[in-house]
Amino acid sequence: MNQPVSISNRANSIKPSATLALTAKATELKKQGRDVIALNVGEPDFDTPEPIRSAGIRAIEEGMTRYTNVDGTAALKTAIVEKLKRENGLHYENNQILVSCGAKHSIFNCLMALINPGDEVIIPAPFWVSYPDMVMLTEGTPIIIDSTIEDHYKITPEKLAAAITDKTKMLMLNCPSNPTGQSYSKAELSALADVLLKHPDIYIISDDIYEHILWTQEPFANIVNACPALYDRTIVINGASKAYAMTGWRIGYAAADKTIIANMRKIQGQSTSNACSISQAAATEALKPQNFHYVEAMAAVFKERHDFLYKALKTIDGVKVIPSDGTFYLFPDISGLVKYMPNVNNDLEFAEQLMESTGVILTPGTPFGNPGCIRFSFAANMTVLEQAMERFVQFIAEK
Ligand code: PMP
Ligand code: GLU
Repeated sequence: MNQPVSISNRANSIKPSATLALTAKATELKKQGRDVIALNVGEPDFDTPEPIRSAGIRAIEEGMTRYTNVDGTAALKTAIVEKLKRENGLHYENNQILVSCGAKHSIFNCLMALINPGDEVIIPAPFWVSYPDMVMLTEGTPIIIDSTIEDHYKITPEKLAAAITDKTKMLMLNCPSNPTGQSYSKAELSALADVLLKHPDIYIISDDIYEHILWTQEPFANIVNACPALYDRTIVINGASKAYAMTGWRIGYAAADKTIIANMRKIQGQSTSNACSISQAAATEALKPQNFHYVEAMAAVFKERHDFLYKALKTIDGVKVIPSDGTFYLFPDISGLVKYMPNVNNDLEFAEQLMESTGVILTPGTPFGNPGCIRFSFAANMTVLEQAMERFVQFIAEK
C-alpha cells in the first residue's frame, strides 16, 4: 500500500496490553535459547485438572461442536447460578448471566453496554493493565485514584468521594487485586459502599476473578456481600481462568441486572457470538462442587510460594514489600533501590536491564499505574523462584 494506513481514533487511543506483550517477549527469548525465568506471567502454571479436561474431550466426541445460545448453554448458566448461590451467597436467575470468551470479554461487553462517550469511570490504581484502555475503547474517560504501598494500595471512602463528579458512571473494583494481591475487608467495602449509596447513578464492576486465591482470616466478600443494596447496579465478573487453571479455554461470565445482561448479550451476539462450546462443557464440569478441592490445592501452593518470595524480598535493602492477601502476585516498591542505581532511572529500565542481564522477567509497575513498583508473579515452582531470587539479588549487588 502506498498511502499510510488510516487507523481509527479508537485504535490509536490505546496501547497494546503490557502483560501480554511481555509474555510474547518471554516466548521469543526462550525460542532464541535464552535462559529465561518468566515471573511476568499472569496465569496459573498448573494444568487444567483432569475431570475438566476429560469433559472437554467428551464434549468434542459427543458432537458439542456447534453454536450454542449467545449467552451460554443452559447447563453452564445453571452451574454459574448455583456457584454464585453456594460460594457467594448471591441469587441470580439464568437470564441474569452472560457467558463470554474470558472475564476480559465480560468486562468489555459490560463497558460497551453502559458507557457513553465522556462518561467517567473511576479506576483505583494500581489496576490491571487493561482497565483504562478498555474504558478508552468505549470512549469513556478513566479517572485514576492513586494509592501507595503505605496505603496498602487501597482507596479510602474520602478519596472515592473526591473522585466522583456528575459525569461518573462507574467504579471498577478488583479484589483481591492484580497486581497488588491486596484485598478489601468486608468493613472496608462497606465504607466504600456508603459513599456509593449517595450516588444512585453509579454502576460498579466487581471483578472477583481471584476470589479463591485468598488466605485472609475473613472469607471472600465482594461489595454486594458488604452492601446488598448495591445488587441492582453491580456487575459481578468472574471466570474459569484463575481458579481452575483454564486461561486458554477462555470462559468468563457476568452476573447482573437482567436489562444490563440483555444489552451485553446483544453486543456479544453482534460481535463474537457464544464462547467456545467445548470450553463451556469443560467449565460446567469445573463448577461442580466435587471439583472445588482442585482450587483449594492450587491456592495452598500459591500461598507457600508467596511466603517464600515475601520473606526473600523483605530482606533486601531498598525494597518495600507488604504481604499479599491472595492472588499469585507480589507488588514491591523498588523506588528505594532504583535511587541508588546510577544507570537505572525507573521501574521500566529496571525491568528491562534485569531481563537483559539475568533473564528474569518481571512486569514493571508503570503499566499498572504505579511507577516505582514491580510485579512478581509466583506462578512458577519453588526451584524456579529460588533461582529467580538469586539472580535478582546478584543483579542488585552488581548495579
Ligand atoms: N481481571 C483481572 C484482574 C485479571 O488479572 C484477568 C487476567 N487476565 C482478567 C480479569 C481476565 O481473565 P480472563 O479473560 O482470562 O478470564
Ligand atoms: N491477567 C494476566 C496478567 O495480568 C494475564 C494477561 C492479561 O490478560 O493481561 O498478566
